[in-house]
Amino acid sequence: MNAFNQYLEDHAADFEAELCEFLRIPSVSADAACKPQMDRAAQWVAERFRRLDFPVVEVIPTAGHPLVFAQSPTVPGAPTILVYGHYDVQPVDPLDQWTTPPFEPTVRDGKLFARGATDDKGQLLTHVKSAEAWIRTAGKLPLNLKYMIEGEEEIGSAGLEEFLKPNSKRLKCNCVVISDGCQFAPGVPAITYGLRGIAYFELRLTGPNRDLHSGSFGGSVTNPANALAQILAGLIDRHGKIKIPGFYRRVLPLSDRERSELAALPFDEQEYQRQLGVDGTFGEEGYTSLERRWARPTFDVCGLWSGFQGEGAKTVLPANAGAKISFRLVPNQKPEQVADGLRKQIAKLCPPGITWELTDLHGAPGVVVALDSPYVEAAARAIESAFGRRPVFTREGGSIPIVVRFAQVLKTTPLLIGWGQDDDNAHSPNEKFSLADFHRGIKASAKLWEELSKIKM
Ligand SMILES: [Zn+2]
Repeated sequence: MNAFNQYLEDHAADFEAELCEFLRIPSVSADAACKPQMDRAAQWVAERFRRLDFPVVEVIPTAGHPLVFAQSPTVPGAPTILVYGHYDVQPVDPLDQWTTPPFEPTVRDGKLFARGATDDKGQLLTHVKSAEAWIRTAGKLPLNLKYMIEGEEEIGSAGLEEFLKPNSKRLKCNCVVISDGCQFAPGVPAITYGLRGIAYFELRLTGPNRDLHSGSFGGSVTNPANALAQILAGLIDRHGKIKIPGFYRRVLPLSDRERSELAALPFDEQEYQRQLGVDGTFGEEGYTSLERRWARPTFDVCGLWSGFQGEGAKTVLPANAGAKISFRLVPNQKPEQVADGLRKQIAKLCPPGITWELTDLHGAPGVVVALDSPYVEAAARAIESAFGRRPVFTREGGSIPIVVRFAQVLKTTPLLIGWGQDDDNAHSPNEKFSLADFHRGIKASAKLWEELSKIKM
């Protein structure tokens, strides 16, 4: 066993004790009463880097909670990697559903229970301890590391957003490493190489100047609720294809390699249906459920209102109708282009006697990293060496705003390597993190620095 693995083994208990110390700080970003704890948590993080003699360690105030920025000693010619994480945690209620108190870390059955254990204190600490192992055994890191650890991830990252653009030079990096998510399954580590984007709208239709008697007026004026149903139905066909002209023009198709990687994942269609309580799945024809969820664009009505909602019958022809609708986008679709196409299609579908208004609520593009990117390959080798099996390659159906912002502003490659599990109860009572995954995460991270350092700049 080399000095390096020996160090990890000798200090395993110290690492756990240190994580528990971190977890005892109740850094709930949403709770104004926790403000002093937020500052304490930021200082605690900064102290980790001071102990490693990093030449740059800063606690940067924002309008909200502070950012921690740190930079390792310069290694000329080597890649520069930015590690992103967050020291803030979700609120703990309902408190009575916790088996042990959220800020008193407790080990049960090899799992460490505490708020923030997996999201994200335990995961972010793996990337700090891995740097420590390098410095204490090899004397220095093989590459340049920068750390940006924020305290507002759970409340929208406003401070980091403000910092990002003016400081893009300081944060400049070849890739950004983020461990704030999950493996595919226990013992099945994953690299998440793509995220979908989103375009979200509110559509409001107005018909007559007041609610009308549906007997006296029905049939002579357009009912906005009927019109809304027609418009929404006209946006997607029975085969799951979105009927907006040009919608698919820029869609990045799945490569053969991606399709076979996704097909190889241990995913059970029957079990998926059972979990959701449905007797069949539906989606765009010609694609599997995982492809539909991760790599194909979709259209969903998220909310719908009009007319009488109360008990019993009221014969009304409503004056208004509205809907919240969202499109999940894939690279290289742009939310603005979807908005343009959508407006044209609504104009075409909207019957006479109705005026309509479409409001853009929010939009973000999708992100994807090529599977043959040297960063992805380096991460796959590092994970394999620590977890004893090659990671699977997954995508994420949702959007992670900060990842998109890093890609947009820093023009950098995101490397999403989560050490958690789906059932870690992030954001729920009894949040936990497997200690085995914590230690494997440290080992994988340490190996990652080595593998990334070999990439020719
Ligand atoms: Zn998180």
